[in-house]
Amino acid sequence: KHNPEGDAHFLEDESTKIFARKVADHYSARTNQTLEEREASPIIHLKKLNNWIKSVLIQLYAKRGDAVLDLACGKGGDLIKWDKAKVGYYVGIDIADGSIEDCRTRYNGDADHHQRRKKFSFPARLMCGDCYEVRLDRILADDAPFDVCSCQFAMHYSWSTEARARRALANVSALLRPGGIFIGTMPDANVIIKKLREEKKFKSSNPFGIKYKFHLEDAVDCPEWIVPFHIFKALAEEYDFELVFVKNNHIFVDEYMKKPEFIELMRRLGALGDGNQDRSTLSPDEWEVAYLYLTFVLRKRGQPDQI
Ligand code: SAM
Repeated sequence: KHNPEGDAHFLEDESTKIFARKVADHYSARTNQTLEEREASPIIHLKKLNNWIKSVLIQLYAKRGDAVLDLACGKGGDLIKWDKAKVGYYVGIDIADGSIEDCRTRYNGDADHHQRRKKFSFPARLMCGDCYEVRLDRILADDAPFDVCSCQFAMHYSWSTEARARRALANVSALLRPGGIFIGTMPDANVIIKKLREEKKFKSSNPFGIKYKFHLEDAVDCPEWIVPFHIFKALAEEYDFELVFVKNNHIFVDEYMKKPEFIELMRRLGALGDGNQDRSTLSPDEWEVAYLYLTFVLRKRGQPDQI
């Protein structure tokens, strides 16, 4: 459900902060679900599909011993994925203090939590903060450089103003080593704008600050921002990134589902039937929501230091 407030332009500082707070409050209020609640979610298969997409990205780009920066890490739903990739160090930051608390509980091993698992094998630093406002290079000077930065389903929250979008990219660029990788997922502006045009609800050509409201049952209900991908790419290039690829999530799924190692992963996650490339477990609505998102990979220019 989209309700664009189409012709917004650069926002004043105050209103930008209010929107960032709204987003933080929305995510903070979403407490950890029990396993039963999770399985009963109307979008359980979409959640599993998104977990599969993030796992594939992590398996493709994280190497043993890597230092990882997880921007907008949420409740730490990706901690296990990073553990499987045997990374060496993890920093997670999120604006929602409630989510960071859940993330901390998950990392430390919650006795009541369903996943009684062994401790994570990497040290972690978890922090609450606005990744698109704060100079992270100052705060994380002793933790940098990172080999991989990940920003999953959250980069678009930086797109309220040019200043925030630039801060987001400057932070990642300053913290990644030369040759380091920036992976992420976010709404696909092409798809969203096309849908809005069809509903005659879209009339903006601004590069930043195009707000729309997005409601996804059991997941999202807060202001979001359209990120025209060509602007994102051009801005990223200013901050020394080159595009490795961008794919709508439908294409991403179709492509990586053909690879045996990822079929097996899909089967284990239980996202798509038996993992035999049949999407029958996803409802048509869930598959349509998957089409609203894209996956990107950027590489920081330069060569890694010779050892
Ligand atoms: N990356 C996690 C995942 O994939 O499970 C969480 C994704 S959730 C859809 C979006 C997250 O972005 C929320 O946890 C929210 O608090 C966070 N977020 C939004 N704006 C942010 C900001 N300015 N700085 C840091 N985190 C932010």
